[in-house]
Amino acid sequence: MSQISVLVVEDEPAIAETLIYSLEIDGFAVTHVGTGTEAIEQFQKEPHDLLVLDVGLPDITGFDVCREIRKTSDVPLLFLTARESEIDRVVGLELGGDDYVTKPFSPRELTARIQAILRRSRSTPTHSSNSANDLSEIKLGRITLFPDRYQAQCDGRDLELSRYEFGMLRVFMEHPGRVYTRDQLMELVWDEPEAALDRTVDAHIKTLRRKLHDVDEAFDPVKTHRGIGYSFDNLEST
Ligand code: CA
Repeated sequence: MSQISVLVVEDEPAIAETLIYSLEIDGFAVTHVGTGTEAIEQFQKEPHDLLVLDVGLPDITGFDVCREIRKTSDVPLLFLTARESEIDRVVGLELGGDDYVTKPFSPRELTARIQAILRRSRSTPTHSSNSANDLSEIKLGRITLFPDRYQAQCDGRDLELSRYEFGMLRVFMEHPGRVYTRDQLMELVWDEPEAALDRTVDAHIKTLRRKLHDVDEAFDPVKTHRGIGYSFDNLEST
């Protein structure tokens, strides 16, 4: 079994030591660097399976590191934050982080988050296509999307979604587990996002849920994050 490699980017030696220790106990192969520049260099030299990234680094910020790495990679990324203002930016996920842990944290909490992120990234959707440009199908758990036709099926049954419901479902399924704010959904799905309202998103989420419930009353893969937004839970059941 090959080890999962984690790149830890943390400048405070005591925190770094605790992190390395608990990750190694859990069986991860850990590489540690103390600055953002080193992190980017190290990642380009040797791609890792996951990054644990402190926001407050001595040279550039963890956000800068994330932005740089996101240019070339979709690697799962967990932020370590110390301040409320940082949490807002991470939770908005404008930066493409997968999750965050607030300092001080327990090593157990951290490794639990890492395991959850890895589970999610392992269940990313399968894209099958006829050619590189023609995306004919996105399948995740019980739901299959046919982007060319703007069609979605659950358990093989057509969901008959409106274009906005379809658009949101597609965004969710391309990044299962990632939380999207209403603003982000509007930007990504609506043609004229400035004309739409927050409650427009809520209304379409409601109808999307109802259509999924029509197939199976117990099936609710769209998760509400109070005060933040929505995400898609990859429920593989039945
Ligand atoms: Ca720091």
